[in-house]
Amino acid sequence: CESSKGIALYDELEKELKAQGVETEAQLVKTGCFGFCEQGPIVKILPDESFYVKVGPDDAKKIVSEHIVKGRQVEELLYDKDQKGSSDNIDFYQKQQRIVLRNCGVINPEYIDEYIARDGYAALEKVVFEMSADEVIEELKAAGLRGRGGAGFPTGVKWGFTKNAVSDQKYIVCNADEGDPGAYMDRSTCEGDPHSVLEAMAIAGRTVGANQGFIYIRAEYPLAIERLNNAIDQAREYGLLGDNILGSDFSFDIELRLGAGAFVCGEETALLASIEGKRGMPIPRPPFPAVKGLWGKPTVINNVETWANIPMIILKGSAWFSNIGTETTKGTKVFALTGKINNSGLIEVPMGTTLREIIYDIGGGIRGGKKFKAAQTGGPSGGVITEEYLDTPIDYESLQSIGSMMGSGGMIVMDEDDCMIDVTKFYLEFTVDESCGKCAPCRIGGRTNYNILNKISKGQGSMEDLETLKTLAQAMRKASLCGLGQTAPNPIMSTMNYFEDEYLAHINDKQ
Ligand code: SF4
Repeated sequence: CESSKGIALYDELEKELKAQGVETEAQLVKTGCFGFCEQGPIVKILPDESFYVKVGPDDAKKIVSEHIVKGRQVEELLYDKDQKGSSDNIDFYQKQQRIVLRNCGVINPEYIDEYIARDGYAALEKVVFEMSADEVIEELKAAGLRGRGGAGFPTGVKWGFTKNAVSDQKYIVCNADEGDPGAYMDRSTCEGDPHSVLEAMAIAGRTVGANQGFIYIRAEYPLAIERLNNAIDQAREYGLLGDNILGSDFSFDIELRLGAGAFVCGEETALLASIEGKRGMPIPRPPFPAVKGLWGKPTVINNVETWANIPMIILKGSAWFSNIGTETTKGTKVFALTGKINNSGLIEVPMGTTLREIIYDIGGGIRGGKKFKAAQTGGPSGGVITEEYLDTPIDYESLQSIGSMMGSGGMIVMDEDDCMIDVTKFYLEFTVDESCGKCAPCRIGGRTNYNILNKISKGQGSMEDLETLKTLAQAMRKASLCGLGQTAPNPIMSTMNYFEDEYLAHINDKQ
């Protein structure tokens, strides 16, 4: 919880434990994100599971003198004064199921031993010594894991393409170039449980026959970069990366590549170009990276959340994983829940959970008792979900059917005060800014649509402008080269569909 002075609090706790002579009686553990950002920084005391929230550095003295020395809870810092048993019973966590975030807020991500103590690298061991490549791929297919970067492509099928491709060299890539406004799922996973990503990439390397992996991560994520680099060093030291992993004939290593903050580099072909040292611009597909990727070689590329699922699937089996979720979408989904919501935070829910459960049961409802208006999923590529669809179960197909999309996991909640034209303008401004300019539909269409929206928002729009918006949006969807341009009109189409009255009000009332 760096953003809310968590590090200063840690230092104070450490100082107080020493000052009060109990540094050997209590172990202070620095963890990754607990997810309950609204209440951070959080201090959890084990074994009694006391859950202290909004703890400031000044509270350290009292926590140590009361709780650690005298064994009495500090009531005013407790989230729930009536809390019984595990803190998992707190309403924010009750409907959550943590697979990807299993170790976040639990282990110290700076020590490999803590990851190993929770079955870390046991899946890699199983894959190296007990499973054939085909068995791993079949397990992933049977599990029904689909890529969490947004497209939802079956992971096992993708790995199968790369495994079957004949080449002298293959690569494994982790896409950690998270760039959606409001999204921080991948950052938190890399900060809180970096080894889960490394282990999964090594499993993929063993399965498809690759010996080199790259993690492409935003340079704006310094703590995640530090933790990943530290994890790589420790894994090498323990013989879990590098030559002859676990004494076997399998060698695999991982390096980091830092992105310079271009949103388009989250698109896989642009990302690969950037790793190669070229300007990050998309190229047409096919061929897909699975058969012709990095430096023209077969490359498995998955995002952080997809990777973090894999060790658990290998360890617990496909039947366990495919029991979670819906018919078409198995497992869980991590969302960064932000906006006008009481409990903003990082959450992980089984697929099939409804938006109502996310917003009201986990999110605690709308801030200030205001009325819910819409939620945007899929970031600038997604669409709005309105009140009438709050009971839609979250999965790839259901969200698409109501004009939104899963995206990578940003979820922004809006209340009755939000103007949908302004919201749409914000997203469009973002995609116009981030367009790489390679193809005309996105470069010109996006800018033109933004100018029209700007006019409408100033009360200078006309009915013809609405028609032009729609026509251009459709052209961009059909003719843009990559996903950025193809999906950039989604916020326009979606808000025009559900909030046409607001567009008309801006035009007719000249608001
Ligand atoms: Fe670049 Fe946009 Fe074309 Fe994608 S759609 S290649 S971001 S100009």
